[in-house]
Amino acid sequence: MKSLNRTNFGSEQWLDYDNQHIWHPYSRIDRLDKNYPVVSARHCSIKLADGRVLVDGMSSWWAVIHGYNHPHIVSAIQEQATKLCHVMFGGFTHQPAIELGKKLIDITPKNLQQVFFSDSGSVSIEVALKMAIQYQKCIGENKKNKFLTIRGGYHGDTFGAMSVCDPVTGMHTLFSNTIQEQIFSDKPKISYNSKWDQISFKLFEKEFNEHKGELAGIVLEPIVQGAGGMWFYHPEFLREVNRLLKNESTLLIIDEIATGFGRTGKMFGVDHSDITPDIMCLGKALTGGHLSLAATLTSNEVSQTISQKGIKTFMHGPTFMANPLACAAALASLNLLDELNWEANVARIEKQLNNELADASNLKPVKDVRVLGAIGVVEVNKDVDLGKAIKFFVNKNVWIRPFKNLIYLMPPYIIGENQLSRLSSALIEAIKNNEI
Ligand SMILES: *Cc1c(COP(=O)(O)O)cnc(C)c1O
Repeated sequence: MKSLNRTNFGSEQWLDYDNQHIWHPYSRIDRLDKNYPVVSARHCSIKLADGRVLVDGMSSWWAVIHGYNHPHIVSAIQEQATKLCHVMFGGFTHQPAIELGKKLIDITPKNLQQVFFSDSGSVSIEVALKMAIQYQKCIGENKKNKFLTIRGGYHGDTFGAMSVCDPVTGMHTLFSNTIQEQIFSDKPKISYNSKWDQISFKLFEKEFNEHKGELAGIVLEPIVQGAGGMWFYHPEFLREVNRLLKNESTLLIIDEIATGFGRTGKMFGVDHSDITPDIMCLGKALTGGHLSLAATLTSNEVSQTISQKGIKTFMHGPTFMANPLACAAALASLNLLDELNWEANVARIEKQLNNELADASNLKPVKDVRVLGAIGVVEVNKDVDLGKAIKFFVNKNVWIRPFKNLIYLMPPYIIGENQLSRLSSALIEAIKNNEI
């Protein structure tokens, strides 16, 4: 086999190699539907090896908020690379980490004052769970080592994170004897735009009161449940949870990995409710989707307690902690958020999605259509035939990847009006023509 270069990389030979040797997310080796080879991406366009160009409707799983290969982020990475690509964070520190830490502390809720950097969202969740458990031990609450969450959640694929994912759609059965058992309550049934009903909170409150002696924390995605079902729930639920924990040592852990950095129309999901989490996790769009980086922020109360009692050390330390290239990319992405008026862009996308997806609600297979910020979701009656749908979308030159019975759009904030229309119309056409 010749070596791999741009001209031969899309050939059947190399795609067969990919199919037989390289794992892709949630898939088998030797897949029936091969992956599409990508050679480059820019703005909202993804270029395939055969020359076709797809309009991106996914932001590569919430991450690429300013579009692909944004020149400002690329040059920040290049400039940092000339000085320092990486150095261990044990014993050393560097300017990109300090500057990014300060920026994150400045834009998140005021009580969050310390930051722990890691390399992926799942790890930032592990860090959050460990912080909560260590905190409880430090204050003498040795029995508090479980977590309460709601069904329909998604928090990542590592063991601790899996344990707080939805117990049915998550991987609890598959790994049943190895996953820590947690406490689950129903997700709030009242949607974001509906009238709040206290009933939606009562069950959760009951569950909390029954188990609070063993609860280190409550873990929630704010407002939007992402990969667990794309459900948008009422902000009052978060306010109630915040009130519930006011005089309790159980910590509120908010997972902003998907919702952070403007996607829901506010900078953070918690900004819909004005609550004060004890721990907050960030990831995905943190670097504008250019490099892998995550962060776990916490309060003085939690970090001081862990640092002054017991073993006085927080027991986690990834090899690539606060990687300088990733921190530089994140700083550049946050700069762009300041400069590009994301709020107006997200509001514009929300309006257009509301207009264009409204038609879908009259189609027979459609159960629900919902839009919040730059997220548009069409829920259909049965699970989508992924292979069939993707083929249809790629032939229409758009990139939309449904999961289960959800077909959704989550474009980069800079997407143009025409490009977005192409995404919405391809989505509706796929349902109309039964290409799903
Ligand atoms: C994607 C996601 C994670 C996991 O992040 P990874 O970087 O994939 O490990 C955790 N929580 C939420 C809400 C997510 O959307």
